[in-house]
Amino acid sequence: MRHAGMLVSKMHKFIKPYIKEGITTKELDRLCEEFIRSKGCTPSFKGCEGFPNAVCASVNDCIVHGIPNNYKLKNGDIITLDIGACYKGYHGDSAWTYAVGEISDNDKYLLEHTEKALYEGIKVATAGNRIGDIGHAVQRHCEAAGFSVVRDLVGHGVGRDMHEAPEVPNFGKRGQGVMLKEGMVIAIEPMINMGNRAVVFEKDGWTVRTIDRKPSAHFEHTVAVHAGKAEILSSFDFVDEVLKNK
Ligand code: MG
Ligand code: MG
Repeated sequence: MRHAGMLVSKMHKFIKPYIKEGITTKELDRLCEEFIRSKGCTPSFKGCEGFPNAVCASVNDCIVHGIPNNYKLKNGDIITLDIGACYKGYHGDSAWTYAVGEISDNDKYLLEHTEKALYEGIKVATAGNRIGDIGHAVQRHCEAAGFSVVRDLVGHGVGRDMHEAPEVPNFGKRGQGVMLKEGMVIAIEPMINMGNRAVVFEKDGWTVRTIDRKPSAHFEHTVAVHAGKAEILSSFDFVDEVLKNK
């Protein structure tokens, strides 16, 4: 699982320089799939419940599950790439929202605080705490920044399947829900809207958008639960430095 997680973090590092005005989301998907396969892994999302591509590419008001297509990125867009890789039967899962060129101050603020909320959640993902502690930490951070937390989509356990129990909501109450135990691996993934938290499921069966068409951000790491401090499997320090949106 460490290897699968490291691969998805390397994947993000690899793809970031390509995220520029003019490239299509389909092209980004192709590059990612080639990279994943070149490292001896398979893309977890391709064929998962019928999803057609290797990555989810969600632009602006698309929250998650955007299907890569011929849309050309424009200066000022934000795009989330959600990437899963499978190594020897085990999955890693990580999403990041990127700025395309120069984005608005409001969008920068949304990205900054969604990323911070992810790390607030990771901080409390320790043995003996409960799932509700994670949701509470994420929700408190984002709502204090003036944003809303998507309720219809949640994080999840990760293992031999991409999506396993338990669900990991980005909202909740301290001390409630499943207890976290040493060795559990979960994907923590705040999906945070600039406006209303309500979502629309589009007719293509995949795309999920904000109801008010305002932007949404999504940051995700796969983390292993330990006593004292969680281990981020989909990240290591130098990748985090490269990924900084600032
Ligand atoms: Mg993901
Ligand atoms: Mg996930």
